[in-house]
Amino acid sequence: MTTPRINPGSTIGVLGGGQLGRMFAMAARRLGYRVHTLAPEHDTPTGQIADVEVVASYDDVDRVRAFAREVQVVTFEFENVPAAAAAAAAEVTFVRPSGAALEVAQHRIREKRFLTQHGLPVAPFAEVRTEDDLRAAVHAIGRPSVLKTAALGYDGKGQVAITEGVDPIEAWGQLGRAECVLEAFVDLEREISVIGARGVDGATSFFEPFDNTHRHHILDVTVCPADVPANVAFDAIEITRTVLEQLEYVGILCIEFFVTRAGKLLVNELAPRPHNSGHLTFDACRTSQFEQQVRAICGFPLGGTDLLQPAAMVNLLGDLWADGEPNWAAALAMPDVKLHLYGKASPRPGRKMGHLTVMAPTATHAKERALAARRLLVSGHAVRALQ
Ligand code: AMP
Repeated sequence: MTTPRINPGSTIGVLGGGQLGRMFAMAARRLGYRVHTLAPEHDTPTGQIADVEVVASYDDVDRVRAFAREVQVVTFEFENVPAAAAAAAAEVTFVRPSGAALEVAQHRIREKRFLTQHGLPVAPFAEVRTEDDLRAAVHAIGRPSVLKTAALGYDGKGQVAITEGVDPIEAWGQLGRAECVLEAFVDLEREISVIGARGVDGATSFFEPFDNTHRHHILDVTVCPADVPANVAFDAIEITRTVLEQLEYVGILCIEFFVTRAGKLLVNELAPRPHNSGHLTFDACRTSQFEQQVRAICGFPLGGTDLLQPAAMVNLLGDLWADGEPNWAAALAMPDVKLHLYGKASPRPGRKMGHLTVMAPTATHAKERALAARRLLVSGHAVRALQ
């Protein structure tokens, strides 16, 4: 079946209102599209850039259907949209990626079953729905392990470590006794991610792997190129290609991987949307992940993904505001620093408020510069505290 191209001048609908939608909307508008967004909050990062901001619950299927009627294609910047909402949108317009792909990626059990069915490597895991399941899972998987809710987990939320001495039943109680997976704790050498795109015509394209460092389970620093052997980078891209093809996916998909100390690659999870680890593509790649998403879902050829120069991205969390407004001028005085802020009014601790990107002759140099710029943001604060 051939589907028509969705030409510039058309309207793209984004479900979700966060920074991913914001940067997607910027890319879409640069290409001449109009953008509508639907999210439960008002004045969202995406809504500030979009032509139209609809404030509605994702559960309000009628509002989602009405929203979809006004646009030529619907996409996501947030994957935890109910299946019913994606289905309602699909009654009236194109939904890319499809609700079926979303259903796999938004639920850890469906995701792990899909991956194992296709022979893709994941950490040992067991499904948990009852206390008996949990006892059997701890017996089979052992300790240390991580109990994770099957749905609605992100940035380490909905996870408890099952170490020696921890009562698994009590730990499960902390997760509201929700459906879970128990996953073996992986002896990590590093974490990488691959962002791939698949077009309406089945063409695929990949950014080279990103090397990610987390703090308190939240992405802290990404560098590219990743410091991994060529065969690991190749395998990670081939796994991403398999997932895109098996899901008949249209759009941007990110796969987060663990690289074990033994050099083995394991899939951690799928994100059916642009991803925080790809933010540096905005400045450092020929085509950003956001533009690639626009091209893929609108039926256009995918753009070149080459890295123009080694780069690093550091996240700016709300914690940086603890002693007042960060010192933007100090970081911006570094001419190689690109500052991105998401327009969020309340800088709560742990909240992603923005990021910095630096390009340099080596990834290590880029990372040092990006970290130095972030330190400068709060450098005046210590002085103020001493006064
Ligand atoms: P997730 O929300 O599943 O991506 O987990 C957030 C972070 O927790 C990961 O990026 C890892 O740093 C860490 N983590 C999660 N699962 C495991 C595991 N099975 N073994 C080791 N570290 C893990």
